[in-house]
This record gives sequence, structure tokens and C-alpha cells, in this order.
Amino acid sequence: MLKASGLADLHTHTFRCGHARGHEEDYVRQAIALGLSAVAVTDHIPFYWLPPEAHDPTLAMAPEQLPAYVDSVLALKEKYRGTIEVLLGIEADFVEGHEEQLAEILRRYPFDVVLGSVHWLDGFWVDAPSSQRLYEQGPAKVEAIWHRYWQKLEKAIRSQLFDVMAHLDLPKKFGFFPERPLTELESKVIAALTATGTAVEVSTAGRRKPVGEDYPSPSLLERLVAARVPLVLASDAHAPEEVGFGFSEVIPRLSRLGVNEVFYFRRRQPVTLRLPCE
Ligand code: ZN
Ligand code: FE
Ligand code: FE
Ligand code: ZN
Repeated sequence: MLKASGLADLHTHTFRCGHARGHEEDYVRQAIALGLSAVAVTDHIPFYWLPPEAHDPTLAMAPEQLPAYVDSVLALKEKYRGTIEVLLGIEADFVEGHEEQLAEILRRYPFDVVLGSVHWLDGFWVDAPSSQRLYEQGPAKVEAIWHRYWQKLEKAIRSQLFDVMAHLDLPKKFGFFPERPLTELESKVIAALTATGTAVEVSTAGRRKPVGEDYPSPSLLERLVAARVPLVLASDAHAPEEVGFGFSEVIPRLSRLGVNEVFYFRRRQPVTLRLPCE
């Protein structure tokens, strides 16, 4: 894990979301053990767009848990100052029509980094285990999901609510792809990223999923690099030992593409990290 030294993991969860294990301090300690220079705690934002009775404690923390989460991460930032930079983050769902509600939550706390995710697609979850049966309905359904996903993602980016877009090609999680790549929709997403200066995470979480590859896919990553979209490193750890997961393989992958720097965020401003030379 030496190659992770000096890097930053911008995407980790905690027990609070109901499907991850470990306290935020366990993630910070693991990041220190790996020699990372920064780690963002980015638990799932409460379901701000759904009525309280729709809250699912296995998908996100409840709204009343958010202040304690923030306080805890801010306390860790102080406790480990000089050892590692602990970043207050959140993984925030984009839900069209609820942008102002999200903006209000984001204004309330001194976030370092806001990850933008499209998990919720007008009534269903793109990536919840319960959604796999939708993809199994056949190629037409798969294509429809991808189509809607890319369109929604473009709107998410253009909302400018987010610093970094998480798991860019998320609908591939269960291994279902459109029969032909939706290149034009991807192009619109890339144009939105460059127009807004939004970063994208290179996430090793996909390796732990049925699809078995990083987000974004190799071809999409090449297009992002060509468009000079800023990149961050992310494990999307849902257990402390997953911090920095696979980074030692991602670095050479990025080097081969000519990428020599990645970013992290402090008070929502990008900070450059030089990648270690091979
Ligand atoms: Zn999660
Ligand atoms: Fe996510
Ligand atoms: Fe996540
Ligand atoms: Zn995630």
C-alpha cells in the first residue's frame, strides 16, 4: 500500500448510514495507517426529498442524526490536525425539483467536499440491491435506465451543487450495459463537467461489485482525461479496511493516461496532489 502514501481518499461512509461498518474515527485511523495525507468522511445525506415516513435506516442516516455527524467529523479534524487532514464531506443525492432543499442543507455546515450522486431516478434506486430485477427485465429496460441516468446526471452537474461527481457510470453496477454505448449522452455529461469545472472520482468501489471494474470505465476515463476533467481518488469505503482500496493499482493506470495530479477539496476549493512517479 506504499503508493497510497501522500494521497487522499475522498469517499468513505460510517455506521450511521445503516449499511456500512465502523465509526468515522476508525476510517481516519486506517487512513493514517496507510499514510494518506487527507481523508474525507462523506456519509449519505438524509432523504431530504422524501417524507419522513419514507426514511429507510439501511440507506442513509435520519435528518436528526446530521448535526451529530458533522460535530463528530469536525472534532476529528481538530484531534488529528498535523497528522492527517480530516475533511468534512457528504455524499448528496441530486433530486430534480429539490435543489433548493439540498442547497439549504449544504449552506448549514462548513463542508470541505460535497459529492454528487444520482442514486434516485424518479421513483427507484439505480443501485440498490432491490433494483437488480429491473435490469433483468431485458435490454430495452437496461437502455432506458442508462438513458434516464445520463440525462439526470447532466442536470446534476449543471446544478453546480457538487464539487465531485461520484461513481459516474453507476448503472453498470450489476453488470448491465446498453447494447451500444450512449456516446452522445456521455458527451453531454463531459461538456457539463468542463463547463462547470466539476471533478469526477476514480472510484475503486466497482471492483467490489458484480461489474468488477472501477467507475468510470476505461473508455470513459480516457475521454475525461482528454477533456481535462479534474479527478479525485475514492474508495467509497463502507468498512474501515476499505479505505484506499485499490489505489496502488489506480495510480499506474492514471500514469499511463498521462495524469500526474489529482485533487482533494478543502472548504470546497480544490487542492492539487502530485501523483507519485512510478
Ligand atoms: Zn452507501
Ligand atoms: Fe453512492
Ligand atoms: Fe458512497
Ligand atoms: Zn456511494
